Amino acid sequence: HRFKITEMGNRAFWLRGKEREHLVRVLRLGPGDRLIGFDNSGGEWLAEVAEIAEESVTCVIVAESRPDVEAHREVVLAAGLTKGEKLEWVIQKGTELGMRSFIPLRTKRSVLRLEGGKARERVERWQKIAAEAAKQSGRVQEPRVRAVSDWAELPESLPRGCQCLIPYEAERVRGLKSVLNTLERGRSVVLLIGPEGGFDPAEVAWAEDHLQAIRVSLGPRILRAETAALAALTMVLADSGD
Ligand code: SAM
Repeated sequence: HRFKITEMGNRAFWLRGKEREHLVRVLRLGPGDRLIGFDNSGGEWLAEVAEIAEESVTCVIVAESRPDVEAHREVVLAAGLTKGEKLEWVIQKGTELGMRSFIPLRTKRSVLRLEGGKARERVERWQKIAAEAAKQSGRVQEPRVRAVSDWAELPESLPRGCQCLIPYEAERVRGLKSVLNTLERGRSVVLLIGPEGGFDPAEVAWAEDHLQAIRVSLGPRILRAETAALAALTMVLADSGD
């Protein structure tokens, strides 16, 4: 059983809140039971439940490890806001595949409009989905879901020196794979995926000008936004051996 550590000490860590509830009420673990804790730093600790108190569970560390489960190439998914549960699905599956962070993007053709408190609430929900998927898939770093962003705010959220790629169905010549062949190994990749109605041509031009984004094709068929996001992510990660 894997748990997200609430507080880390030298020879022990503590679980509180939902993690404590899950251990006590759902899994009914008790003193002496073993578990794994992770804290988003890349490490993982095998531990034994030592004490269950009202507010926290104390776990004594038995062994430390640094499992090689995170993708070596940082891949960021920036996707246009789409209706329904599509983005939840993309975040969950993207986390399993190795996405490092997710940026929900307001685009001209996004049917879903998210502003203010509603946007923050949705981001919190998406972050929880990423956390759950990270835990479930054995990752040691959960992807960060960033605030809902406009195009103009996007550059601030991108990793330094990254290469932006914009899968665009009107691009017929340059395939994603051919661009990946030219990219240096360690360079972060940002994938910009349009909403249901696709990107407006002016948005593609903006991304080319301001982000030096390269337009790429994902093949001759038009994919749904969520399929395009996961297919592109898989291709980039597979290309780097992740
Ligand atoms: N109307 C469908 C839907 O409801 O999902 C298709 C949407 S498609 C226009 C959404 C996004 O997926 C596009 O903006 C683009 O980023 C990506 N995409 C889909 N098919 C593609 C292809 N063959 N090549 C490159 N990008 C593609």
